[in-house]
Amino acid sequence: DKDREEKMRTARKRMVQEIEVDVMETSRYIGRGQLSAEVMRVMEEVPRHEFVPSYEQGAAYLNRPLPIGYGQTISQPYIVALMTDLLAVSKEGKILEVGAGSGYQAAVLSRLVNEVHSIEIIPELAKECRERLARLGYANVTIHQGDGYYGLQSEAPFDAIVVTAAATSIPPPLVQQLKPGGRLVIPVGTPFAVQHLMLVEKNEQGEIAMRQVLPVQFVPLTGKRE
Ligand code: SAM
Repeated sequence: DKDREEKMRTARKRMVQEIEVDVMETSRYIGRGQLSAEVMRVMEEVPRHEFVPSYEQGAAYLNRPLPIGYGQTISQPYIVALMTDLLAVSKEGKILEVGAGSGYQAAVLSRLVNEVHSIEIIPELAKECRERLARLGYANVTIHQGDGYYGLQSEAPFDAIVVTAAATSIPPPLVQQLKPGGRLVIPVGTPFAVQHLMLVEKNEQGEIAMRQVLPVQFVPLTGKRE
């Protein structure tokens, strides 16, 4: 009802303010004190409470990861905002996500670009996520079930790729499926230990540059190659 929506909106505003504080506090890593206004506007719009289990709805606007079943999580809002910002997407973009989970990150991206593809390895999560996004009207997102290590050759190349589970090294197929000028954002490191959020850029000549952005903690990327 209306009352509840208003409550959620207020909570979402508070969440956005907490993201702003986190960004300030980690500005030495990010290299600036704020994220793009466009990304912050979308964070204020997308109803995160629709992406968490009903028993977690009261916690939906806390700035932290939450369990979504199957041993998986919906990422911390600050990390979602940061990763989205690092992708530096433009409206005409076509994006690939590896690790659809709840579909929240895909929903955020879908408000910034034309087309989003997201791969989820756990069949039940892929199905739930697909149904959720359809119900909420995110028509420009396609959920694929499979091992995202290999990317999505049938839809490649992509303007940007985001991986939301930690890999032990950067999967070559993902770098290969980036357009010239494209960006890949991926946590890399030891499972359940130190990981670094990496920004990989492919220039117009196809050369690769990489930088470590921030220490992070993600659930591991699973599948054959990991
Ligand atoms: N982006 C998600 C969201 O907004 O809710 C959060 C994702 S959760 C931190 C990581 C997800 O990656 C899990 O749902 C997990 O099942 C999935 N995953 C792990 N390994 C994968 C792989 N090889 N291919 C595709 N998905 C994978």
